[in-house]
Amino acid sequence: MAEFALIESIRTRCAVARDDVRLGIGDDAALLAVPSGWLLAVSTDTFVCGVHFLPDTAASDIGWKALAVNLSDLAAMGAEPAWAMLALTLPSADARWVEGFADGFAELARKHRVALVGGDTTQGPMSITVTIHGFVPPGAALTRAGARVGDGVYVTGTLGDAAAALSKTQSKSACDPQLLERLHRPTPRISQGSILRGRATSCIDVSDGLVADLGHICAASGVGAEIDADTLPASPALIAAFAAADRRAFQLASGDDYELCFTAPDAIATGLLRDLADSGCAAMRIGRIVAGADVQVRDANGSPLALPRSGWEHFA
Ligand code: ADP
Ligand code: MG
Repeated sequence: MAEFALIESIRTRCAVARDDVRLGIGDDAALLAVPSGWLLAVSTDTFVCGVHFLPDTAASDIGWKALAVNLSDLAAMGAEPAWAMLALTLPSADARWVEGFADGFAELARKHRVALVGGDTTQGPMSITVTIHGFVPPGAALTRAGARVGDGVYVTGTLGDAAAALSKTQSKSACDPQLLERLHRPTPRISQGSILRGRATSCIDVSDGLVADLGHICAASGVGAEIDADTLPASPALIAAFAAADRRAFQLASGDDYELCFTAPDAIATGLLRDLADSGCAAMRIGRIVAGADVQVRDANGSPLALPRSGWEHFA
């Protein structure tokens, strides 16, 4: 299958109609209309075989996750998703792989009405780059920079499932399908990001590990944070699969959960938590913002815990 047949196969599988796409795939550039009065939020993420996914991962799961991690970045800004670009580098023109990839991508794209509006298709070692575009009202975006001393620190959903699944996969052990689903098909917290927009004081998605990502909030906001290790939300599947010490290490230091970590003052916390719970993804208070510069983890007695290891970093 030649380049243009691959592109056509992707285009038909990923078709999502949107009025703001004035010209989509097929010309030298897409023509897109940003709604007046909104800001364009843009983010990109690259997936490299062997680094971000194992070589035997299903093509449809790779397609889902390549879009999911990008949508998660928009969620963390409180943005509404709209358009995606897809740069695919493939070792060969494997039509079945591309169809599977496009089907997984399209399944998630349809859930969020994301139109694929262009991209590039080239030959080389497998690498996938998605660029996502969304909209956010001026002044309401969630950034990493607004956390204030006294704010609570919260996280949506549960932490550690993806790392648990990866650990089981790498040791070739049996793994609960619910954990595998969290690794291969993460749920971007788009509607929760919209709920937080204009209300949370800061937000980040947990892609590299809670301590590392909350550390980014602290650095950008000029504050420190304390996490109560015993309050970290864990899924029943994670509790069944790993003892407390492993669980805690996954929850604190491993990435790939794509939950939202955010800060909010106590005065608005009750309403915010109720709205999040109503959205189908509750958030839990896991700590607080303090004066200082780094993230400390405390046990049930309030004593500091040594951190298992730091979050994921390329070139480290
Ligand atoms: P050009 O040579 O002008 O860069 P291409 O031949 O690379 O154009 O692409 C033709 C059209 O197909 C363009 O509209 C481009 O955005 C789109 N396209 C190419 N690859 C992909 C892809 N992997 N996913 C979505 N659209 C793609
Ligand atoms: Mg091109």
